[in-house]
Amino acid sequence: MSETFDAIVLGSGVVGASAAFHLAKLGGLKVCVVERGELCSGGTAKSCAIVRSHYSVPSNTALTLASLEIFANFTDYLENGGAESGFVNSGYLILAPEGGLAEKMRANLAMQSDVGAETFELSPAEALERHPFVALDDVGLIGYEPRSGYADPYLTTSSFLRAARARRAVVKTGCPAERLLLHGGRVTGVATPRGELRAGIVVSALGPWTRGLTDPLGLEIPLEISRHTVLTFKGDAPYGRDLPVVKDLTTANKMYFRPATGGVVLVGTGDHGDPLAAADDMDENLDDDFVLLQGGQLARRLAGFEEAAPTASWVGAYDITPDWNPVLGPVPGIEGLVLAYGFSGHGFKLAPALGKVLAQTALGLPQDVDLTPYRLGRFAKGELLTGAYGIGSIS
Ligand SMILES: Cc1cc2nc3c(=O)[nH]c(=O)nc-3n(C[C@H](O)[C@H](O)[C@H](O)COP(=O)(O)OP(=O)(O)OC[C@H]3O[C@@H](n4cnc5c(N)ncnc54)[C@H](O)[C@@H]3O)c2cc1C
Repeated sequence: MSETFDAIVLGSGVVGASAAFHLAKLGGLKVCVVERGELCSGGTAKSCAIVRSHYSVPSNTALTLASLEIFANFTDYLENGGAESGFVNSGYLILAPEGGLAEKMRANLAMQSDVGAETFELSPAEALERHPFVALDDVGLIGYEPRSGYADPYLTTSSFLRAARARRAVVKTGCPAERLLLHGGRVTGVATPRGELRAGIVVSALGPWTRGLTDPLGLEIPLEISRHTVLTFKGDAPYGRDLPVVKDLTTANKMYFRPATGGVVLVGTGDHGDPLAAADDMDENLDDDFVLLQGGQLARRLAGFEEAAPTASWVGAYDITPDWNPVLGPVPGIEGLVLAYGFSGHGFKLAPALGKVLAQTALGLPQDVDLTPYRLGRFAKGELLTGAYGIGSIS
């Protein structure tokens, strides 16, 4: 049995969902989203969904600024009355220690202003007006973004999928893509256990599972997978949902934290994480030493968290490339295929705007943001997009 569509999107995470919506919207295409499990059951479901424009690669900032526009106007943009992202415009504080990192941060703040971001330095007194509980004695430089915040990853993704469905898209769950179908160097569809799905455009948004598609093609892609733990802590008093997100570059694991439902703080790390052979090999057990480490770091940074108790935890996989930036765009020699993987722990915020640029790429339209710097071939040529802070999800 086979079915025919104009375009197929592999993966129903936030990147696939946004790409599907934009393919349907921009090209009027009949799109099929192919998902091996449940809707949004990969990295997106585990995401902390922080949206900030602080980067050292200008095109990452440009994509995030375009995503912020979408979050600010989500229901209208998706042209779907039920669309919600859960975006909270709480602002974003970034803290650097004295010295080299502070200098790099100052240069990055200037770069982001050049790209159009509203971002500036704050004095400790000004930072305390926005976040009264944060301890700043050891901080050399404070950056701030008033337009940033955090969203709900599942709501955002399911809203993009619902809006795509309203534009004739079909979503097949429990339907793994087994291999790409090719003819004469062109994509013609994908094989699934439910039969062949035919289309001349395939956008692959498979996150840490991308090798399942590329290995059978003999295509070598740089991709490491790592495990990251997210914890929530309850302090002495309920933690307000409008308090700014905080990124703490004074910590070795580049800790970040933000408000979460129920008056708790959600805490994650922007470091390498624990290496994994495959995303499905993840140990779900919590490491006590890690809880003590994060609890201690939080207690030093936040008043009222000296005796904080952990209330929940989960783990998620990052799909990491050598320069901690994604691979985006066509694959030389395979016409009709567009790859999007390797988001290295920071893809949620890029996805709303990126889905449009991926659709523009697939349709041969001019790109809102030039994706050339993210091409697969950059690694072989040594033209890496390495960020100023070294490895980690803040590149
Ligand atoms: C713990 C954690 C915290 C994070 N925090 C942030 C943050 O604060 N801000 C931020 O910007 N980013 C954050 N990220 C990163 C961000 O969540 C990811 O980059 C983004 O969600 C990736 O989306 P995706 O659509 O590419 O992949 P995924 O969401 O992983 O989607 C891939 C989908 O493909 C499906 N799939 C796999 N194999 C097949 C197959 N053969 N056929 C069909 N379907 C298949 C999977 O089931 C999955 O649903 C975080 C990530 C993690 C893990």
